[in-house]
Amino acid sequence: MPGKITFTMVKPEATTSGLAAKILSMITDSGFRIIALKMIRLSKEQASAFYEVHKDRPFYNDLVEYMISGPVIAAILRKDNAVEDYRRMMGATDPAKADEGTIRKLFATSIQSNAIHGSDSDENAITESNFFFPEIERFY
Ligand code: ADP
Ligand code: MG
Repeated sequence: MPGKITFTMVKPEATTSGLAAKILSMITDSGFRIIALKMIRLSKEQASAFYEVHKDRPFYNDLVEYMISGPVIAAILRKDNAVEDYRRMMGATDPAKADEGTIRKLFATSIQSNAIHGSDSDENAITESNFFFPEIERFY
């Protein structure tokens, strides 16, 4: 498979406020190929499991409630250096600290409602992609 993958979600507030198409076009304009895509509303169990790594953090319960408050758009993206390049394009977790031109600087409304998710390592990109997409739903 040429290039590597990362996993992203457009989070509920960005999806329901009509920002998904804009965000997806920024993603493809930056050289990522979308190899899987779906809109889905997570169950509480799914959101809790997806963010389990954060279960001891004070923001965990609010994060899970937020992530199930509406639909998300989930995607697998392919590009050389996908994880690192996408993290740079996302911007910092806290939009107040995000660089100009990043997705979070442009579209996030708070540290919790920060527009998108992006994997933080190649290993997690694979785990998170597998969480959402069977092989039959991927188009390399
Ligand atoms: P990132 O999404 O940048 O990888 P983390 O993995 O640390 O950030 O956190 C996962 C998500 O949890 C964040 O995207 C954000 O929605 C939420 N979050 C992180 N830190 C906080 C915080 N201090 N207060 C509220 N929500 C937070
Ligand atoms: Mg993270």
